[in-house]
Amino acid sequence: MATIGFVGLGNMGGPMAANLLKAGHTVRGFDLAPATLDALVAAGGQKAGSATAAAQGADVVITMLPAGQHVRDIWLHQGGLIDVLKQGGNNPLLIDSSTIDVDSARVVGEAAKEAGLAMIDAPVSGGVVGATEGTLTFMCGGDEAAFRRALPFLQAMGKNIVLAGGPGAGQAAKICNNMMVGICMVAASEGLLLADKLGLDRQKFWDIASTSSGQSFALSKMCPAPGPVPAAASNRDYAAGFMTALMLKDMKLSQEAAEATGAATPLGAHATSIYQAIADAGEARKDFSFVFRWLNDQGRNKVAS
Ligand code: NAD
Repeated sequence: MATIGFVGLGNMGGPMAANLLKAGHTVRGFDLAPATLDALVAAGGQKAGSATAAAQGADVVITMLPAGQHVRDIWLHQGGLIDVLKQGGNNPLLIDSSTIDVDSARVVGEAAKEAGLAMIDAPVSGGVVGATEGTLTFMCGGDEAAFRRALPFLQAMGKNIVLAGGPGAGQAAKICNNMMVGICMVAASEGLLLADKLGLDRQKFWDIASTSSGQSFALSKMCPAPGPVPAAASNRDYAAGFMTALMLKDMKLSQEAAEATGAATPLGAHATSIYQAIADAGEARKDFSFVFRWLNDQGRNKVAS
C-alpha cells in the first residue's frame, strides 16, 4: 500500500481521499480550510501543516484545487512541490485532478518532466456523488508509463479511466465535455419551458423526450424542471450539485480554448453568456440547472415552477 499526499480536500477532494483510505492507502492531506482536515482525520487520514509536509516522502501526490492559478501556485512557485519533490529522490508520481486551463496543465506537466518527475493531468466528471461513491470518470493526459502507474490509484476513486493523449489532453477532453453539457442544459431547459407554455403535462413530455432524440444526460439525470427526476437539484430549490460558478468557469475555459485554436463554438459562447447572467444575478451558488428557472423568469408569461 502507498503513502499519498493529497492537497485540496474540498467537496471533491475530501471524498476522493476517503476512498483512497478505504482502499488501504495512507493519506496525508493538506487544505487551507481546517474543517476539511478534521474530516480527513475522521476518515482515518493524517493532517499535514502544509502542502510540502503532505507531499514530502509520499509515493503519489494528488492535487484537487479550484483553478489553474492555485495549481500553478502549489506546484511551481518558489518552494513549490516540484522543487521539493525532485530533491526527495523517491520518484513520486504526480497527479492533478483539478479542472484547469490546458495551458496551465501543460506548463506544470512540462516543469515536472524537466525535474525528472512523472505527472499526469486527470480531471474528473461525476460530481460529488461520483467522488463519494468512487465512480468518477478520469480523463487523463500524460505519457503511457505514468498513466499505468496512476491506474490503481485512480481505480480506487473512479470507474471509467481513459488516457486521452499527452500532457494537457485530459483537461482538453474535460472542457470539451463540459461545454457540451453546459449547452445541453440550456437546450433541455428551453424544451421543457416551451412544453410548459404549450400546455403539455411536464411528466408526459419528459417521458417522451427522455426516450426520443431530444434525450441528453442533462434532461434524463439532472432534469432542470422540478418533478420528473426526483434526485435532480431542481427539486431542492436548485441546491448544488454542480454550481453555476463552476460551470461558468468551465465554459469560460472552453471559450478561451476556442479563441486560441480558432474553433467556432457559437452555442458555447451563447451558453457562457447565460451562465454569466445567472451569476451576475447573484445565483452563482445555485446548481447550473437553475437556468430553467432563470429562463422562466425572463419570459413574459411565467409558468409555475
Ligand atoms: P472546493 O472549493 O470544494 O475545494 C477546493 C479546495 O481547495 C478547498 O477546500 C480549498 O480550501 C482548497 N484550496 C484552495 N487553495 C489551496 C491551497 N493553496 N492549498 C491547499 N488547499 C487549497 O472545490 P471542489 O468542488 O472540490 O472542486 C475542485 C476541482 O474539481 C475544481 O477544479 C472543480 O472545477 C473540479 N470539479 C468539481 C466538480 C463538482 O461537482 N464539485 C465536478 C468535477 C470537477
